[in-house]
Amino acid sequence: MSMVENHAERLVLEASIEGVTDIHFVPRREDCLIKYRFGNDLTVREKIPKQHSTKLISHFKFLASMDIGEKRRPQTGSLMLSVREKLVNLRLSTLPTPYEESLVIRLLPQEDPFPTSELSLFPQTTNTLISLMKNKHGLMIFTGPTGSGKTTTLYSLLHASHQSTQRNVITLEDPIEKHTDYLLQVQVNEKAGITYSTGLKAILRHDPDIIMVGEIRDEETAKIAIRASLTGHLVLSTMHTKDAKGAIYRLKEFNITMQEIEQTLLAISAQRLFDLICPFCGETCMPICRKHRKAKRISVYEVLHGRSLLNVIDEARGNTTPYSYPTFSKLINKGIALGYLPIQSLEGWKHEL
Ligand SMILES: [Zn+2]
Repeated sequence: MSMVENHAERLVLEASIEGVTDIHFVPRREDCLIKYRFGNDLTVREKIPKQHSTKLISHFKFLASMDIGEKRRPQTGSLMLSVREKLVNLRLSTLPTPYEESLVIRLLPQEDPFPTSELSLFPQTTNTLISLMKNKHGLMIFTGPTGSGKTTTLYSLLHASHQSTQRNVITLEDPIEKHTDYLLQVQVNEKAGITYSTGLKAILRHDPDIIMVGEIRDEETAKIAIRASLTGHLVLSTMHTKDAKGAIYRLKEFNITMQEIEQTLLAISAQRLFDLICPFCGETCMPICRKHRKAKRISVYEVLHGRSLLNVIDEARGNTTPYSYPTFSKLINKGIALGYLPIQSLEGWKHEL
């Protein structure tokens, strides 16, 4: 094995052991920095000579079947690697810079579904979601920004539900982030004519019980999802809204009536991922400890269902009956007060608003 191959393998191995989500290659005038992203931290790991970084980047591009000769155009690629007998999906993207190409590798471990018991800082919220999955029909929406763990939540809920009920689960994703055997997964492929809306129509003819639609991002998809959930299917999907109740207003923008919303919507969950305070080192966890410590990040869920959901729907209709439910800020404050989350967690959340 050449030095370059060795180095590439070592970087991916270390990153996956440490739970790093992205490896950055940042070209500079004289050299290249390799940085690791872990949560909100992006830290320099190595400084390597330019000559070596060029070879390393080309090697990764080669592995991902990207055009090695092309350096002026941004490219994307992906590959699957086996790291310590576990599959890791690497998603690559390059950008031309004045010095050299820059490369970012996103690591998507294809591990077993995350146990639902470890998803949430407050496990009661996940239990609520799991019991709502027992419904035969209806719509469940999961919101949160990119990287908030929505996909992980969806996969572990689907897995838990599959294990207890053996229902036929079909997903429509863009892209498929985790390949699994217990779901039938369909990849959105616009060139082949599979968009969210045409794919969803095709899935409905394929006798599904549960349908997971990667994202509702247009009116047509929203309408089909509503129709599917009215006709005996449980539909799970994601949306980009700031908080849980934002999903209702987004559905209204897609011309879904309040009546349809009330008839179909079972729950809306909004989530954010937070760094957990290390139980051993406190707020500044040492890299060696981070490597061996299991729980590093955890989600906080704002879940609307039942009474709280009806209240929010009522509010969207223009009624103003006072009500309250565990909102993000209350839950984050609770996590801080109990010593699980660093004080900055609330600041980070406020900056999004
Ligand atoms: Zn620690």
